[in-house]
Amino acid sequence: MDLSKKIREIQDFPKEGINFKDITTLLQDKEAFTYMVDTLAAQLKDLNVDIVVGPESRGFIVGVPVAYKIGAGFVPVRKPGKLPAEIVRYEYELEYGKDALEIHRDAIQPGQKVAIIDDLLATGGTVLATAKLIEELGGEVVSINFLIELAFLKGREKLSNYNVKTLITYH
Ligand code: IMP
Repeated sequence: MDLSKKIREIQDFPKEGINFKDITTLLQDKEAFTYMVDTLAAQLKDLNVDIVVGPESRGFIVGVPVAYKIGAGFVPVRKPGKLPAEIVRYEYELEYGKDALEIHRDAIQPGQKVAIIDDLLATGGTVLATAKLIEELGGEVVSINFLIELAFLKGREKLSNYNVKTLITYH
């Protein structure tokens, strides 16, 4: 199935010059949604993933069904101030702005195998920050999987130490 046909592009959102990839049109399509989850899950086969980590908020939407499908746990990485228990924090650069991400300190045990799943790879800042948080807790990042890659932003270069897979690439 060609999932790229299910992505809607919105010009100048959230600000001028950005061609936003809207995945809601894919998610609402039952065949496309099932295909997306099954394909991402298949990419993680044989990696013995203990935990899927998804960054807020579209990483939750894409990561949770994949975690369920492969029998892994799910851990959210969130914007500051959202997680209730003791956290670890990492600051990073966004495609549009600067931000920080947090994870619960007890969310991952040393040696656990972790896959990061997010909707879209732009500059790679979000997921690199997520990987740093996982590694600070002693987890091993065995795979990073995206629905969409904006290859022209060269996020892969930032993630060159990792096993990165994407389903749809925009050049
Ligand atoms: P990065 O940190 O620069 O790689 O940006 C990736 C993050 O920004 C992801 O969590 C995406 O959800 C979000 N993002 C950036 N551009 C888009 C877009 O065009 N569509 C949807 N999400 C985007």
